[in-house]
Amino acid sequence: MILKGWIHEIRDLGGIKFLILRNREGLHQIVLPKKKVSKDIFDMVSTLNKEDVIAIECEKRDSRAKDFEFEYLPSKIKILNKSETPLPLDPAEKVSAEMDTRLDNRFLDLRKRKIFNIFKIRSELLKYTREFLLKEDFIEIHTPKIISTASEGGTELFPVQYFEKRAYLSQSPQLYKEMMMAAGFDRVFEITWYFRAEEHNTRRHLNESTAIDLEMAFIKDEEDIMKILENLIHYTLKKLSENCKNELDEMEVKIECPELPFKRIMYDEAVKILHDRGSNIKWGDDLGTEDEKILGRYMKENNIDYYFIKKFPENKIFYIMPDGKYCRGFDLDCNGVEITSGGQRIHDHGLLVKRIQEFGLDPENFKDYLKVFRYGMPPHGGFGMGIERFLMEILKIDNIRECILFPRDRNRIKP
Ligand code: ATP
Ligand code: MG
Repeated sequence: MILKGWIHEIRDLGGIKFLILRNREGLHQIVLPKKKVSKDIFDMVSTLNKEDVIAIECEKRDSRAKDFEFEYLPSKIKILNKSETPLPLDPAEKVSAEMDTRLDNRFLDLRKRKIFNIFKIRSELLKYTREFLLKEDFIEIHTPKIISTASEGGTELFPVQYFEKRAYLSQSPQLYKEMMMAAGFDRVFEITWYFRAEEHNTRRHLNESTAIDLEMAFIKDEEDIMKILENLIHYTLKKLSENCKNELDEMEVKIECPELPFKRIMYDEAVKILHDRGSNIKWGDDLGTEDEKILGRYMKENNIDYYFIKKFPENKIFYIMPDGKYCRGFDLDCNGVEITSGGQRIHDHGLLVKRIQEFGLDPENFKDYLKVFRYGMPPHGGFGMGIERFLMEILKIDNIRECILFPRDRNRIKP
C-alpha cells in the first residue's frame, strides 16, 4: 500500500528509526528497524525534515505501540516536496503558539489535528443545517453582497468603489430575505457572509463573519420562528454528537443536547434578574455584554445553556413588529453570549413608514425597500444565527477567530 502525507516527527533510536506521518486520517507510525529495511531507506530517513511531503510504499501490520493500532514497514520512500527549515510554526508542537503567530501562518496552524477538527465539525454542522431546513421545505437562496444602500440604518458598512458609484458590502441579507417573502417563496434560508465595519476588537466579533439566515411567511407570531430555530439547533447538535464522535473526543468536548422546548425568558424578567445581580441596566436598554454574561451565569446555575430572551422593548429595531410597549423580536443566547437575533417583522407598509420615522430615519432612503411592502406582503419573520458564535459555544472555544479559516478583525486583513 501507499501512504502519502507530511512528516510530523522523526525519531532515531540507533537500531530503529520511527517516522510519524500525518495526513487527513491522522497520524501513522512508520517503523524502520535497521535489520529489516534497506540501507538506502534507513540512511535516507535521516535526511528528511519535518513537514516534507512524502509517499511511502509500505506493508501494514498490527502495532504494539500504545498510541497506534497499526504500523507500517516501508519498502520505498519518495519525496514529493521538501519543506524549508526552520518552520515559522511547528504543527507538531505541543505548546500552542501566540494567536498572531498562528494566524500569520494559518496554513501550518490548520495542519494541527485539533484545529482541522473545528473545520470538519463546521462543515458537518452546515450539512445538518441544510438537511434539516430542506426537509422543513425551506429553499436555499443567495442574495447580493454588494449593495447600494444600508440594510439596517446606514452605519457600520464597508464602502466599495463600484465603477463610478459608491456601493457597500452587505451587513445582512435582511431586506433581500423579506423581498423573497413578497416574491412568494414562503420559506428561505441563506448561508451567508456578514460584513460589519464595527471598530470593536473583541473575542466574539469578526468584521467578516458567516451566518445561517432564515425567513418564513404566513407565521402567527415570533414563536413560529423560535420553534424552527430550537428544532434546528436540537437536530444539528444531536447529529454532531452522533456522527463526529472522534473529532469531539480529540477536542475533549462533549455535546449536551439541550431539551426541547428551550427556556423562554421575558425581557422584563431578565431586567429584574440583572438588577438583583448588580446591573444598572434601564428598562429600554439593549442587554450589554456584561448583562448577557450575568444572565448566562444565572441560567447556568439552573442548568440551562440555551435560552430565548423575548418581549424586548419596542425600540429594538425599526422593522420588528411592535406589540404595545414591547416588540416581537427575540435573541437566543447560550452561556451568556448572543448567538441569534430574530423576530416577526412588520408587513404593513404604513406601519413600516411610521416606524422608520419614529426611529429618526428618512423613508426616502428606504424607497426600494418600502416598495416591496406595497404589492402584497404576507406576515413574516426570521432570524440570523452567527455560525462562528454557535461553533464557539458547541466546542467551548474562547476566541471567535478560531472558528473561521482566515479571520478579519480590526487589525487583520491577511492572510
Ligand atoms: P452583538 O450585539 O453580539 O454584536 P448583533 O446583535 O449586532 O450582535 P445581529 O445583527 O443580531 O448581531 O446578527 C445576528 C447574529 O449574527 C448575532 O446573534 C451573532 O451570532 C452574529 N453576528 C453578528 N455580528 C457579528 C460579528 N461582528 N461577528 C460575529 N458574529 C456576528
Ligand atoms: Mg442581535
